[in-house]
Amino acid sequence: MLSLRIGAVLLVLGLAGAQTAPTPAPYTLFSPEGRRPVPARLISGQEMFALDDLASLFQLTVKEDSLAGGLIVTARAQSIVLTPGQSLASVGGRLISLPAAPFKDGRSWYVPVDFVSRALAPTLGARLELRKPSRLLLFGDVRVPRIAGKVEPQGSLARLTLDVSPQTPHAVTQDGTRLVIKFEADALDAALPASPVPDLIQGLRPGDGPASLVVDLGPRFGTYRTSDLPGDRGTVRVVIDVIAATTSPSAGGAPATTPPAPPLPDTPPLLDIAPSGGIRTIVVDAGHGGAEDGARGPSGTLEKNVTLSVARRLKAALESRLGVRVILTRDGDTHVELDERAALANNNKADLFVSLHANASVRASASGAEVFYLSLEEYGDQAQRVAKGETEALPVFGGGTRDIEVILWEMAQARYIEQSAVLAQAVEAALRDKVPMSPRAIQQAPFRVLVGANMPAVLVEMGFITNAEQEKQLSSDGFQVSIVQALVDSIVRYRDRPAARAGAIGGTATPRAGGGIRP
Ligand SMILES: [Zn+2]
Repeated sequence: MLSLRIGAVLLVLGLAGAQTAPTPAPYTLFSPEGRRPVPARLISGQEMFALDDLASLFQLTVKEDSLAGGLIVTARAQSIVLTPGQSLASVGGRLISLPAAPFKDGRSWYVPVDFVSRALAPTLGARLELRKPSRLLLFGDVRVPRIAGKVEPQGSLARLTLDVSPQTPHAVTQDGTRLVIKFEADALDAALPASPVPDLIQGLRPGDGPASLVVDLGPRFGTYRTSDLPGDRGTVRVVIDVIAATTSPSAGGAPATTPPAPPLPDTPPLLDIAPSGGIRTIVVDAGHGGAEDGARGPSGTLEKNVTLSVARRLKAALESRLGVRVILTRDGDTHVELDERAALANNNKADLFVSLHANASVRASASGAEVFYLSLEEYGDQAQRVAKGETEALPVFGGGTRDIEVILWEMAQARYIEQSAVLAQAVEAALRDKVPMSPRAIQQAPFRVLVGANMPAVLVEMGFITNAEQEKQLSSDGFQVSIVQALVDSIVRYRDRPAARAGAIGGTATPRAGGGIRP
């Protein structure tokens, strides 16, 4: 795992750049009243604040006690007693230690910066936080989340992870060649990484607002996906996958943000694999299950329950209307591994694989259905050669050595990419008649569940469960029935497409009469 990070902390605060030694850059005090620079001085290797500065910022009184030879700092009726030459101080009667003794220069006293967190914070009765690495002082009710970023290449995508502490609402939007991540905060305390994948992510930088970050996208950018993973102790990990544009033989490298060009109807289908377009067995995959809830709606609706409900309805509709055999990857609230789902379809020689999911977004307003088929970019040259028919390698289930088996397994879907694209377009067109669609209605992505499927395969995100309105729809009978009708229609449309019929030489494809057959 490759992880490059710039050593320097990059502050998204509009601070003056670091000054040259020996004067260190000032700290910035953030409070609800605004921000102020607080100068620091390097004295005997210790960063120190002038006590006078702290006194005016935090309404302290400072008295020299000439009898005892000490300094008495009073904050909110509590006393901090400092003794020249000693690094111990008394705070409200309790002893604390400082990294250095107070220092007198002319008439001014200086204290180590840690005085703020160790002595002042406990006496002020309000939040006062010293962040040395980012040179911040946070006072009172201000939101300045810490953000640690990392960019890692993962096959054909670049994964940006941002660990945000504390958890802070945010939204990711695309703005031309940039992604903008906007946080609901007063400022960001961000360590931004260098990108080892400049053709996907050129770099990260502070945005225009006080609390936004910009991801400059590289020339290979196709699309992106984002998800939030809850972290430890109130933190959140924001994951943004920047996915390379797909260069499919027919689309000629069109970015995946625009729907890929449909393969021409007269593109020779892989007739040796699907001789007639006849469809006998369909595997319907209810996403998630068991301990894996999937996404959760604002009212608590779980993706795993929605997908199972739609899967059961779809099975009944396909069986009764098309007379096909339908196998569910799960018919209960059980955990099924992603690879097992494809294996079930392969072992049953299914003709189609349809995976059902509900989408999630940090943007509560995100809505609409999306249809995915596999992107091969993730799976390297060999998979793409298989897709183009340039090798005779066939997915052999249970054959060969383990290594070879794994490689072939990973390529199973490669031969079906074009057919999966056609299926995805049929699904998209049929859904569009019945339910709201996302602006990015067809996309390619390296979904694990599709990779091993040895047949045309699509994944349908039926709607955004994180959108309150769509959450209601997704659990309603009416919406589920609409989704099921659209999926049945699309499978009929796919089955009866001209390319499939052309390949049906005395085969099982249903001949069309008039304007087409309705199931
Ligand atoms: Zn899902």
